[in-house]
Amino acid sequence: MILLNPKAHSRFYPDMRSRDIMLKTIEFFEKKGRRRIKADDHARVWYADFLEFQKAERLFATLLTPAGYGAAGCRWDTWRNCEFNEILAFYGLAYWYTWQVSVLGLGPIWQSQNEGLKRRAAQLLQDGAVFAFGLSERKHGADIYSTEMTLTPMPDGTYRANGEKYYIGNANLAPMVSTFGKLSGTGDYAFFVADYRHRNYELVQNVTDSQSYVAQFALHDYPISEAEILSRGQEAWDAALNTVNVGKYNLGWASIGICTHAFYEAIRHAANRRLYNMSVTDFPHVRQLLTDAYARLVAMKLFTLRAADYMRSASPEDRRYLLYNPVVKMKVTTQGEEVINLLWDVIAAKGFEKDTYFAMAARDIRALPKLEGTVHVNIALIVKFMANYFFNPKAYPDLPQRSDAANDDFLFRQGPAKGLGKIQFHDFASAFQASQVPNVRSFLRQVDAFKEFLAMDTPDDAQQKDVDFLLALGEIFTLIVYGQLVLENAGIHGVGNDLVDQIFDFMVRDLSRFALQLYSKPSSTAGQMERCLKMIQKPAVDPERYGRVWRDHVFALRDAYEMSE
Ligand SMILES: Cc1cc2nc3c(=O)[nH]c(=O)nc-3n(C[C@H](O)[C@H](O)[C@H](O)COP(=O)(O)OP(=O)(O)OC[C@H]3O[C@@H](n4cnc5c(N)ncnc54)[C@H](O)[C@@H]3O)c2cc1C
Repeated sequence: MILLNPKAHSRFYPDMRSRDIMLKTIEFFEKKGRRRIKADDHARVWYADFLEFQKAERLFATLLTPAGYGAAGCRWDTWRNCEFNEILAFYGLAYWYTWQVSVLGLGPIWQSQNEGLKRRAAQLLQDGAVFAFGLSERKHGADIYSTEMTLTPMPDGTYRANGEKYYIGNANLAPMVSTFGKLSGTGDYAFFVADYRHRNYELVQNVTDSQSYVAQFALHDYPISEAEILSRGQEAWDAALNTVNVGKYNLGWASIGICTHAFYEAIRHAANRRLYNMSVTDFPHVRQLLTDAYARLVAMKLFTLRAADYMRSASPEDRRYLLYNPVVKMKVTTQGEEVINLLWDVIAAKGFEKDTYFAMAARDIRALPKLEGTVHVNIALIVKFMANYFFNPKAYPDLPQRSDAANDDFLFRQGPAKGLGKIQFHDFASAFQASQVPNVRSFLRQVDAFKEFLAMDTPDDAQQKDVDFLLALGEIFTLIVYGQLVLENAGIHGVGNDLVDQIFDFMVRDLSRFALQLYSKPSSTAGQMERCLKMIQKPAVDPERYGRVWRDHVFALRDAYEMSE
């Protein structure tokens, strides 16, 4: 069973404490029940109960304190953090958000050389605190070069911080808000910590109308000494980017958690609803919608889990995760939107009802592609890897699944976030070539045509500078990377050929769609258009396989999970 089912929890953990954390968290939400979760959502109630619970059980302390800084069992272990992410979003994005921004806030702290601040953070985690990441500013969005928060040096060697931050989660109660600014005079970047309780810290407002507090805050001559500085110059810049590298990975899990709960709700509703003397799940188009949603959701999970293996095994010599993480961020979260679109056509009017999880899912799933770098920003990043991915592979040792109880040290010493175009990858084609599954074979033919497009009808200088054109190209490249890791992980998780074939059925259709978009770009040449047509393929049809996937994988889940009232 690849999807999370909180009522039949069976995931592997290397130790009891990790399992205990997941089971207790599930129990907390199931006891709270759907009605209260929904009532709190409607009334935008601050989630003090969840924060009390995590404090009492020392959840964030165990999961977010690196080994050596906390009690026994504390470690930064992506394997278990993945599932914690998934469980929180399964019950509500607001609960996930307070955890997520704590992850982000801790990023510049655990990367810092300032031992005093690291010890302080560890103690605060132990005491049940949450954290915040003050990077964004109202006027600048993705353009963090234009940061205006300023540290002005004083004659006594201290600084005064002045400026405003916008969209900062937890900034209403984090005793250490990791804040990004510039030193006046030199323009050097700096990360420092601010305390929301200080009288020179003004909490202006919650800029959203939700359970979460997403703050606008201002610092007015806020005094900062060396003891509060986390990093400066290149180190501070790297800390910002490297924190986002770690944090944006979690957004994929938020989408997976939301889609999984919404899937259970939609199929249960459809299977039990009778129209014209039959079940809604007897309609062929409903079966197709649910099968597609299921196949997409399984692919989201396989890809995201496999990307974690690369993240956990990363080193200065192996930085392949720098491609896979933006793919999680951009592709998995937009696939999440697609899954909800498909399910909504099945659950229809019920999806608007106030006591459904679905109504929250339909609203919240839209957030994930937009946070921590938009889809465009991530595709622009992804295309930097394309040349080496296709044309300059390198041998790496086989990478096993990583579910061991290790502390992921490298995430906090990633080094300068540059040289992306030089990163090499293992041969992407071998995962596809090893498979005899019909739709994988079709997909491989499309991939070969795309590779020929790049090699023979290479985008010219103008096209390479045209972001609109590059985004279309980037969609196809992203889909190929997606397919590769899905296949790698299908083997590891023992996903059978029927389901793999069903997954590649939608992958073949998606690649055809993206090829048509590239074909239609204003600057595409006759040669490029010809190659695009070769990429358009029909998936292999196999009614028996489709029937088995529907019966054994999809319809089989109709009564698998229902949340406690
Ligand atoms: C609910 C919520 C919570 C948040 N929490 C936090 C938080 O805790 N801490 C924090 O620091 N920030 C937080 N943010 C900010 C979030 O990370 C930003 O919204 C995000 O970085 C994008 O900025 P923007 O939305 O202002 O878009 P803009 O940067 O204004 O982008 C506008 C358009 O330009 C495009 N664009 C911009 N740059 C590029 C590029 N390089 N290449 C291609 N296209 C580009 C975008 O894709 C978009 O279409 C939060 C935001 C929200 C809504």
